[in-house]
Amino acid sequence: MKILKFGGTSVGTAESIYNVRNIIESIPGTKIIVLSAMSGVTNHLVTITEAIKNGKQEEAQILNSVLKVKHIELLDKLITSPDRNFKVKSGLNDLFKEFDDFLLREYSEDNTNLILTFGETLLTYIFSEYLFASQMDNTLLDGKRFMYVENIENPDTTEVANRIIPFLKSEEMEPIYITQGFVRIDKFNRVSTLKRGGSDYSATILGAALNAEEVQIWTDIDGFHNNDPRYVEDTHPLSNLTFEEAAELAYFGAKILHPQTISPVLEKNIPIYLKNTFTPELPGTKISSEINKKGLKAISAKDGITAIKIKSNRMLMAHGFLKKIFEIFDNLETAIDMITTSEIAISLTIDDTRNLGPILDQLHEYGDITVEKDHSIICIVGEGLIEDSNTYKLFEILNEIPIRMISYGGSLNNVSLLVATENKVNALKALHKTLFIKAGQELVPSL
Ligand code: ASP
Ligand code: MG
Repeated sequence: MKILKFGGTSVGTAESIYNVRNIIESIPGTKIIVLSAMSGVTNHLVTITEAIKNGKQEEAQILNSVLKVKHIELLDKLITSPDRNFKVKSGLNDLFKEFDDFLLREYSEDNTNLILTFGETLLTYIFSEYLFASQMDNTLLDGKRFMYVENIENPDTTEVANRIIPFLKSEEMEPIYITQGFVRIDKFNRVSTLKRGGSDYSATILGAALNAEEVQIWTDIDGFHNNDPRYVEDTHPLSNLTFEEAAELAYFGAKILHPQTISPVLEKNIPIYLKNTFTPELPGTKISSEINKKGLKAISAKDGITAIKIKSNRMLMAHGFLKKIFEIFDNLETAIDMITTSEIAISLTIDDTRNLGPILDQLHEYGDITVEKDHSIICIVGEGLIEDSNTYKLFEILNEIPIRMISYGGSLNNVSLLVATENKVNALKALHKTLFIKAGQELVPSL
């Protein structure tokens, strides 16, 4: 069995959906197709939920009509036979009737989640009917019946397996299943989400639950690049990454993959392939436990980082100081990304600033605090990176760009730099030049 996930612009128009169908047809075996919403739809639903929160139910209705038109237009392009079109449209109207009811309700978190996950419900319904209309039998599975994820950081994939297996039909030859990404249910059967971009994660959770052969994630770029193609020219796709490399890159900003995607399949050693729906013949990136190349491989950057410095003479020769500091962050459920220390100061970074106020209140007890917002972490990865003979060159960047923190040696496979976000693009370009171009790696995909 294979899990194939299609998202964003891959399912953005009827034309791209024709491509998706062809891709599915070209891949043999049993498949579970995980779809996200059409591109732009979840953002639109977020605006609807905001309108409801602000008591603007009428505005929500108007926004909803745009959504209706968008999906009806898609349906009209995908299913042209009048009888079938009529039948499927009436099914779509039923879904919208249910949805209209959510829009009339008072604001609540539960209702917000029901609204946010509606884009996936709509698209999977239309897509499943389109496959039927084009002679491809399939079974539409309702993720709300089995995507039980109580702990988002550590899903119990055995529990997901127990719940989904009864819906799978073993008697059929190589069946195709369609289901929604993004949605999850908790222990009270409440519908919730796997956070924005979470359909990738849905795919690997299902992959681990069902011990899939592989998980394929189809997007609109040809795999992980060795640097951020939005800011740097002459990047190239990487044909192989290890799970650890991909996890670091995804966590530190590479937008191609939801940061948690790797974790469910890592232990089961199920490879993930990142492929481009628009150029399916290209190899894309394989993420697995194989180490094909040692040394420097890729660079990514994550914005929205806040650096906090705690300077205290009490730290001098004292033990237990770090523990107290970390406890403050732990108690306020805030993850720390980077840390550097000197004898009298500690600097660390966070990206979730929801509890910054109370964190600072408590830190003040321990010394003078400085907070610097609008920073970016630049993450440089590669198996055995710090042993690579070219790695020293990354410090040449210090001649050009002010670096606020450096984390070197935390693992063999990663070096992280903290820069002001206004210097990020220049830092990415400078690193690209010194680490890849000068080192003669440009345009040569690593194998
Ligand atoms: N549709 C959801 C979102 O836009 C999930 C996803 O695309 O993966 O965040
Ligand atoms: Mg995505």
